[in-house]
Amino acid sequence: MSDQLAQLDALIVGGGISGLLTLEALHAKGCSAWLVEHRALGCGQTIWSQGIIHGGLKYALGGVAGAAARSVSGMPERWRSMLEGLAAPNLSGVALRADACAIWPWTSASSLAGLLAAKLALQTRPTRWAANERPPALAKIAGQVLRVAEPVLEPASLLRVLGSMHASRLLLGHVQGCRESERHVEVEVALGDHTIQIEAGHLVFLAGGGNAALRTMAGVDEVAMQTRGLRMVLARGSLPVLNGHCIRGTRPWLTITTAAHEADHRVWQIGGELAEWGATRSPADTIARAAAEVAQALPGVSMEGAQWSTYEAPRAEHVTAGGRRPDLPTVLEEGRVLTGWPTKLALAPLLADDIASRIAPRHPAAPVPPHVQRPGVATPPWMESCRWITAPSDAPA
Ligand SMILES: Cc1cc2nc3c(=O)[nH]c(=O)nc-3n(C[C@H](O)[C@H](O)[C@H](O)COP(=O)(O)OP(=O)(O)OC[C@H]3O[C@@H](n4cnc5c(N)ncnc54)[C@H](O)[C@@H]3O)c2cc1C
Repeated sequence: MSDQLAQLDALIVGGGISGLLTLEALHAKGCSAWLVEHRALGCGQTIWSQGIIHGGLKYALGGVAGAAARSVSGMPERWRSMLEGLAAPNLSGVALRADACAIWPWTSASSLAGLLAAKLALQTRPTRWAANERPPALAKIAGQVLRVAEPVLEPASLLRVLGSMHASRLLLGHVQGCRESERHVEVEVALGDHTIQIEAGHLVFLAGGGNAALRTMAGVDEVAMQTRGLRMVLARGSLPVLNGHCIRGTRPWLTITTAAHEADHRVWQIGGELAEWGATRSPADTIARAAAEVAQALPGVSMEGAQWSTYEAPRAEHVTAGGRRPDLPTVLEEGRVLTGWPTKLALAPLLADDIASRIAPRHPAAPVPPHVQRPGVATPPWMESCRWITAPSDAPA
């Protein structure tokens, strides 16, 4: 099929939370922007994520609200107004896993005192969760349980809502090449059986772990990305609903979120420090440790009959000295090429604001041609073909 030409203010590459919210921000300011996704929306970190809209508490467990805690402290309120349809984009159709997270200590001898000290510096402050109002999974916790108003979203639902809002601006395809001139970037996008030529004022890479290869393709070779490994644990069965963090020392050791599965089955995604530990261990070792630690951290919760699995989920971020987590989203501007990493799903609105502030509307908005295929939404990890085991001793090596 013959090539077509489109003129845009921006072409975004990558349809995770960063790409979709940036598309929304550009569209809201009158810019003509399209987004090209090569697999499915959120296929990577966004669909792997636990969907917690952090307000900084997990970074302030030692009693000090540092830069990371302060940078996320306004995010629960910002997301809540979108979720209630009071601010754009209207996310009132997004499914919530929970309205708040629980925080409980590893053992009855552990204390949450540091955390209570840090709360003075945070907007989203924890409160004591009365024994008769706590999630039933925490009924037998001897120590204090706190409630923090950090909502937990269903990432697939978030992707679906944003994807359908902007369906006329999405393409399923990949960038084959690009060339920057004084006035624009010429981009060739392969769309199944044909290609499309785009002249874009800016080319915006928001492709998570895909950013490194895209930067090389665009000739922006400076090493800018780091990845930090995680091996997440999944448990499925007749599990209680639980969303929150079990704190060990000053670290969120187990972060558990709950997704609905089939009928009465639920899936727990288990992250936190355990998943960082598991990044360099086998699935068998990680599952064995997860099973033992869940038993210790959640007295009274029966995991009998539960099935276990793991998935690898590396986080892609802007490179930092020593490989630490960056505190804030990063945007690099190199000529007409922008590259961004949000660091957290919760921070993606800040990334979108930053990128939108750098691009001015010059071209009239136009929908992608109707015959172009649109990307679907990525499949959650527990619906992928992962191997489930019923007892840690059956775990694959
Ligand atoms: C296990 C895990 C749990 C997490 N939990 C939380 C949490 O609870 N709360 C929180 O705030 N943050 C969390 N995070 C962090 C958060 O998920 C990420 O910061 C965020 O999702 C990154 O979004 P993104 O859009 O930049 O990248 P991604 O979600 O990785 O999206 C990138 C997109 O680009 C596409 N792509 C890649 N290469 C190309 C290419 N060449 N051409 C076209 N498209 C391309 C991919 O298919 C994908 O759709 C978690 C991360 C992980 C890994």
